[in-house]
Amino acid sequence: MKVATTIESLQDLLKDWTEKKHTIALVPTMGGLHEGHLSLVRMAKNQADKVVVSVYLNPAQFAQNEDFDSYPISTESDIVELEKCSADAVFIPNSEQIYPKDWSFDYQVGEISSILCGVTRPHFFNGVAKVVYRLFEIVRPDIAIFGQKDFQQLFVIKKMVDDLSLGINILSHSIVREQDGLAMSTRNKYLNKKERVTAIQLSACMNSAKDKYLSGMQIDKVNTELRQELSENFELDYAEIVDANTLKIITDNTVQIGILCAVVLGSTRLIDNITFWR
Ligand code: AMP
Repeated sequence: MKVATTIESLQDLLKDWTEKKHTIALVPTMGGLHEGHLSLVRMAKNQADKVVVSVYLNPAQFAQNEDFDSYPISTESDIVELEKCSADAVFIPNSEQIYPKDWSFDYQVGEISSILCGVTRPHFFNGVAKVVYRLFEIVRPDIAIFGQKDFQQLFVIKKMVDDLSLGINILSHSIVREQDGLAMSTRNKYLNKKERVTAIQLSACMNSAKDKYLSGMQIDKVNTELRQELSENFELDYAEIVDANTLKIITDNTVQIGILCAVVLGSTRLIDNITFWR
């Protein structure tokens, strides 16, 4: 596996692969890799001839008061794990490589960036779009793979690819969870022992809301009870039950439901979601 820290060294490799007509998949990450990330890499290996994983902690998607400075970085072990998954290259650029002074990016994500996570993190999705666009520009992948854990982010990326006609196939991988149901996340490292036990309630409450909905309870009541239950354990950011294909209110045309939640536990923000057929 090639470890590239500059665009030039990565592009030497990409040029060689492109000449050989290999298809290329990109898996963008911010490092601190866990089994969730590695599942994306394994999926990428099944979908393309060559897999590039980027490891870059993107300052553009953190606000001043967020955890950019304390984000758990583990580059050395990330490289070891990626090698074990047979990734073909890991791209570990610095900010000068990603955001050179003469580079600008005008695309605005639009309305979708101001709902759900965008309410308390208004900077977030434009920051995500910016770095993903830049990575697409550098790697020029055929395929890019993202996790459904960041459900709203998937919509943002797909919309950007569509809006800008980037011609990249965006695939997604289901959420990888710990045995007790907690969605894997680099930020889970922030949880102390007591918080780690409480954290299980997030997926447990969502699953109980799903059961209530499927057994016929009115959606507003399900949502109210979900918010109440989450508030007993967490500081609630949002808990919404939406059409999983539009992220909007459920209508007669809705075929798949999404329960999307964000909560704060101590100093850790956790997001999670489940989707199911109506
Ligand atoms: P991050 O490094 O947190 O920005 O995540 C990089 C990619 O891994 C994103 O596409 C995430 O959605 C995905 N990802 C993170 N955690 C999980 C998980 N538990 N299951 C599936 N995908 C995940």
